[in-house]
Amino acid sequence: MIQFLHVTKTYEDNWKALCDVTLRINQGEFVFLTGHSGAGKSTLLKLIYMDERPDEFHGGEVMVQFNKDLVFDTKTATEKQVQELRRHMGIVFQDFKLLPDRNVFENVALALRITGTPEKQLNSRVFDALALVGISQKRLAMPYTLSGGEQQRVAIARAMVHNPYLILADEPTGNLDPENANEVFRIFKEINARGTTVLMATHNPDFYMNSPFRRLTLSHGVLQNRDIL
Ligand code: ADP
Repeated sequence: MIQFLHVTKTYEDNWKALCDVTLRINQGEFVFLTGHSGAGKSTLLKLIYMDERPDEFHGGEVMVQFNKDLVFDTKTATEKQVQELRRHMGIVFQDFKLLPDRNVFENVALALRITGTPEKQLNSRVFDALALVGISQKRLAMPYTLSGGEQQRVAIARAMVHNPYLILADEPTGNLDPENANEVFRIFKEINARGTTVLMATHNPDFYMNSPFRRLTLSHGVLQNRDIL
């Protein structure tokens, strides 16, 4: 569960990127985040992975609760807890952010290596993640040899290799042609159907029109929905 309570975020130059945002996203939901460029979508996502914190002055807070033992709050989270929070979520960006000097397998395996996962378990987890996005046959390829759609699928595999409770996706199809964009959207729906919460910032109305999923819309930092808490 993700909860924002009266969150305002002002950047150093006094620019208010979010203004009194209150919302709740339940575990297992698929939620779209929409709004014009500069509306505050990336800022909202950064507050969830605690790369940014709400203005203290305004007293707002963001809480992320995966289960009774995994509860994180921007008011109290230490750097160590932020690392722990991020171990239970996956983040996918518009520009993929793959390591150019590692092959597909190693890009996906890296996070598991850092946490000291035994080799056998690591192999099976990486293979499962690559299979989920349909890219197992490219496991030895270097990122620069892959198409944009393939690179994004590797990035999704990397985000999923931990079996996260939550996936945050910031314009994940922004650099893709319609066919690849649809494939990436299909993968996110499948990930959600398996139980992972997905919050996806997007400009693409083809995804959210006629979709059963909830849509949160920001306009100049103000949430346009009356969210039920
Ligand atoms: P979106 O993702 O909807 O395009 P952002 O959250 O990236 O919106 O940005 C919201 C507003 O905050 C924009 O006006 C942007 O210029 C500003 N902003 C974002 N990051 C920073 C920053 N680090 N410092 C100052 N202003 C920022």
